[in-house]
Amino acid sequence: MRRSAAASHAIRSRRRLERDRVTVPGGARLLEGGAIAAEIRTAIAEDVATFTVGQGRAPGLRVVIVGKDAPSTVYLERILRGCDKVGIDAGFVELEGEATEAKVTATVRDLNDDPTVDGVIVQMPLPGTIRLRAVIDAIDPAKDIDGIHPLNAGLLRLGYDGFLPATAHAAVEILRRSGIEIEGRDAVVVGRSAVVGMPAAFLLVKEDATVTVCHRRTRDLAGHIRRADIVVVAAGRAGLVTGSMLKPGAVVVDVGINVVDGRIVGDVDFASASQVASAITPVPGGVGPLTNALLLTHLIRAAERQATDRQTGATAAQPGLPALSRGDR
Ligand code: NAP
Repeated sequence: MRRSAAASHAIRSRRRLERDRVTVPGGARLLEGGAIAAEIRTAIAEDVATFTVGQGRAPGLRVVIVGKDAPSTVYLERILRGCDKVGIDAGFVELEGEATEAKVTATVRDLNDDPTVDGVIVQMPLPGTIRLRAVIDAIDPAKDIDGIHPLNAGLLRLGYDGFLPATAHAAVEILRRSGIEIEGRDAVVVGRSAVVGMPAAFLLVKEDATVTVCHRRTRDLAGHIRRADIVVVAAGRAGLVTGSMLKPGAVVVDVGINVVDGRIVGDVDFASASQVASAITPVPGGVGPLTNALLLTHLIRAAERQATDRQTGATAAQPGLPALSRGDR
């Protein structure tokens, strides 16, 4: 029987994952994002090249920065370097820290109107004088490649395809691409933010997991976690989840990024958790690299969709907005 190209690719990927399988001393499998991200970037580079030939220009990404904030600027510079490597035309639009809300929203609207810009990201957090909601609302949903506009959040909530917040997407994608079974399993998500926890929970529901969302008012966090087959932690608290809270064999996805004594650590105590879990993401090197790669996937999809819409005269408000098919995720 002849296999389709996609099926052959999936089998090759699975074999490669098995071959590259890394375990830590406790026996847990290490779910590293780097190799998966590299695979995604290769595919992106091909899509970017095709788009560039077809449209006579590279796909464009602009990141709006309000004031200089060293840590996140470093993070954004890494994204921009990643864009450069795959042929995406990416750059910052820098505004002064004292910029008004009107100035920021006007900048975003200018980028919405620029046909050479396909994706817009606004650096968070914004100065306290600027209403987050006003800025988010200003982003064209068709260019909202980090899925923060209410339209994209609503599409996800309803189970439709739209742009996903890249970190939440990466938290679930690392499971899918590592061949971890999600369907029918009990999952706990620690954290309910609009950008990470909640979208990760909705994505896990979409993958047919049974999901519990925990937060600071959760009465028995350890009890919930101990019942879970899959634990996704996005709380921003170093060492919040320890091995003694886990069910033996649980799969742990650590989304947290914290700086402790000058070192980057996650929300999970890796040393104890890796003794109990069957698989665990490291920090750094787990969800992070995949987040950046998926963001670029969203950008090329945005660029392709807008090019098609321009040809057909469709508008972002009409159905068919940024579709990410199952295969694209
Ligand atoms: P956030 O907006 O501060 O939300 C944190 C969530 O965790 C809240 O829902 C909070 O509950 C919950 N939480 C905090 N402490 C808790 C505790 N002790 N017990 C139970 N729940 C607790 O943070 P975020 O933006 O979602 O980010 C979460 C983490 O992911 C951060 O470490 C961030 O740096 C990291 N992050 C990683 C990436 C990546 O690419 N890997 C990208 C973005 C963010 P309440 O709702 O009750 O306050």
